[in-house]
Amino acid sequence: MSIVLGSPEKPYRVAIIGAGPAGFYTAIELLKNTSHYLYVDLFERLPAPFGLVRHGVAPDHLSIKNVTSKYATIFKSDRVRLFGNVHYGKDLFHEDLRHLYDAVVYTVGAQADRQMGIPGEFLPGSLSATEFVAWYNGHPDFVSLNPDLSVPSVAVIGMGNVALDVARILAKSGEELHPSDMAEHALSALRASQIRDIYILGRRGPVQAKWTLPELKEMGHLEVADLVVQQDAMHLDAHSEKERATDKIAAKNFAQLQVYAARLIENKPRRVHFRFWASPIEVCETNGRASCLRIEQTRLDETGKLRGTGLFETIPVGMVLRSVGYKGVALPGLPFDETNGVIPNQKGRIYHPEAGHFIQHEYVAGWIKRGATGVIGTNKMCGVETAHSVLEDLRQTAPRAYSQEDVSALLHRRKTRFLTFNDWEVLDEHEKEQGTASGRPRIKVVEAEKALKIASQRKNV
Ligand code: NAP
Repeated sequence: MSIVLGSPEKPYRVAIIGAGPAGFYTAIELLKNTSHYLYVDLFERLPAPFGLVRHGVAPDHLSIKNVTSKYATIFKSDRVRLFGNVHYGKDLFHEDLRHLYDAVVYTVGAQADRQMGIPGEFLPGSLSATEFVAWYNGHPDFVSLNPDLSVPSVAVIGMGNVALDVARILAKSGEELHPSDMAEHALSALRASQIRDIYILGRRGPVQAKWTLPELKEMGHLEVADLVVQQDAMHLDAHSEKERATDKIAAKNFAQLQVYAARLIENKPRRVHFRFWASPIEVCETNGRASCLRIEQTRLDETGKLRGTGLFETIPVGMVLRSVGYKGVALPGLPFDETNGVIPNQKGRIYHPEAGHFIQHEYVAGWIKRGATGVIGTNKMCGVETAHSVLEDLRQTAPRAYSQEDVSALLHRRKTRFLTFNDWEVLDEHEKEQGTASGRPRIKVVEAEKALKIASQRKNV
């Protein structure tokens, strides 16, 4: 028989910072045993919940986004609350959480991007995919990014799924993008886009690409873009051939690229170029803006190590999107592993490497726990593991004699306007209604102030 945690008089309280996939999977697992007296509060910096599902997953991948209906089911329970528009470190602090909760789980994702470390990387016109993705997905912090889409060509650096996402979005026509849930400002900018050539540039070869097959296959269905695969890169060196022969995923990806390489070019208005063995050296500048990308051709040596060949090339591009991975950001009051961009932990328990001990009652899940890898579903296992660590530890400690003040009173006192799950449902309904009127799945409300206004106006009707 499993032990019931807490009692009606003395329940446990757990705070989760970040209402994205990892936060929801952790909450679902924590609340699974309905006999426990355990309450969960989910805090989200933005007015809307769902993190990467709303602001990271490509807007044309609507079926992936359906997972939010599964997340939402937890709010049928009165043991969980959502506090949207509450910023950890601004509205709510480490000390508050330690005071009010028996356990705190940080599921804040990886909010920064990795950098290439080359000259010109931060010129106007040279952006991170993180910013570009957030812009087209209507993340409130990136509405005014205003990328210049009047340029004829763009370089997307990296061979991961994010690179494919941004290349695909740039390659699609307004008609193809219309049924997506892309933010309106991005849809109208992309409708007017002058971009003709999109270069996906990998510093290694086709066998070493990190993208996955369904995403690569999707590139084959672009209505207004041809795929142009660098033919000579399809002749594999000995090392790559060995990798292809032993790695099933790499072999399938390579086979798909072979299909594309054999296709006839149909002279569609746009072209997506797959270029390999091209390491970025410099983003060059004209009139203070990115105007081309200098690359060095690369190869693998006998040991499989990447080497420059000393052969250089310049590709004229008006925009550079580096899509070389995401990185976590340090949180106030917690240790941080700068090299890997994660909070050091063991099975989700935050660990202080210098002090050599765990930080009691504090946990992580998702990208801030394991680094920026994996699909949305990968967070399930990750959240479950952390939830089990939390539950195991709670079993060892009585509910704390924390302050009787509820966090909502604290937030009211601090004049933080937060959104509950019911408020989000109002906003969600509003977005969907607006979408129906124009034949779209939803029209996202991107400004926080507007989101708060809509939720409160409807509530008061
Ligand atoms: P990623 O899969 O790690 O790919 C990063 C790419 O950047 C690699 O090709 C890497 O090449 C390259 N790179 C790194 N540093 C570089 C440099 N200095 N110069 C040139 N190239 C460099 O990262 P991601 O695309 O950001 O994706 C993050 C995670 O989200 C992945 O697990 C991905 O599968 C997932 N995701 C999934 C979906 C989906 O399921 N539809 C969509 C988006 C993202 P090397 O291999 O040579 O290092």
